[in-house]
Amino acid sequence: MFDTHIHSTFSCDSQMKIEDLVHTLRKKAINGIVTEHMDIDYPANPLSFLFDVDEYFASFSQWRSDRLLLGIEIGMQASCHEENRRIARGYAFDQVIGSIHVVDGIDIYDAGFYDGREKSAAYRAYVEGMLRAIQEYDDFDTLGHIDYICRYATYADPELYYEEEAPLWDEVFQTLIEKDKAIEINTRRLDQPSACRALLTFYKRYKALGGHYVTIGSDAHRETEVGRRLDVARDLAEAAGLTPVYFKERKRMLDR
Ligand SMILES: [Zn+2]
Ligand SMILES: [Zn+2]
Repeated sequence: MFDTHIHSTFSCDSQMKIEDLVHTLRKKAINGIVTEHMDIDYPANPLSFLFDVDEYFASFSQWRSDRLLLGIEIGMQASCHEENRRIARGYAFDQVIGSIHVVDGIDIYDAGFYDGREKSAAYRAYVEGMLRAIQEYDDFDTLGHIDYICRYATYADPELYYEEEAPLWDEVFQTLIEKDKAIEINTRRLDQPSACRALLTFYKRYKALGGHYVTIGSDAHRETEVGRRLDVARDLAEAAGLTPVYFKERKRMLDR
């Protein structure tokens, strides 16, 4: 089983050493994909979520195996599609996660994204931003954490509900399906039964529209998070009728 979304020392917000990651994966008897942050044009601190990709491959290639793959998590933004494309195509990544961390130039981690805005307006901007990004940008294998906004939104109920933006979400799913992209089940929030329930609606809809594949990733930044709740995500995938996959050399592989 693969944990397809893991950060380590090439991500500015993780201190997990590759040796410790390899050890943890072995201990838990799972496989993993390192997916370091690459957020070009990141607001506030533009240099923080970047890394030297040559150095990444130079230092991690010795650890690469069938059980430890080397990927990247790309922050999709209109201003940097070209640069992201050049990076995604220019290196021998196993898997590229396309993520939305910034909408209309504002970091959605930042409370300023929500200040003075109704939840419906902020969430609509988020889904619109996601849709625009995947319409304009192709060089990714799976769409990361669709519920990212729920981690940081400041509303009483930060959960995402499919019904609130059904036509937009349908467009997101149709775009992914047309482009033959997978969608991630990020396990970070799956300790909350309410999140599982809400998210299942999304994955069922993706399936109903013709989607087949999910990647399952913990988004671990430290050893204790590696492989967390992969079983919960598997159950969600099964309940939605979706097949877990991972990417090796950018090719879709069944994760059995
Ligand atoms: Zn992310
Ligand atoms: Zn991540």
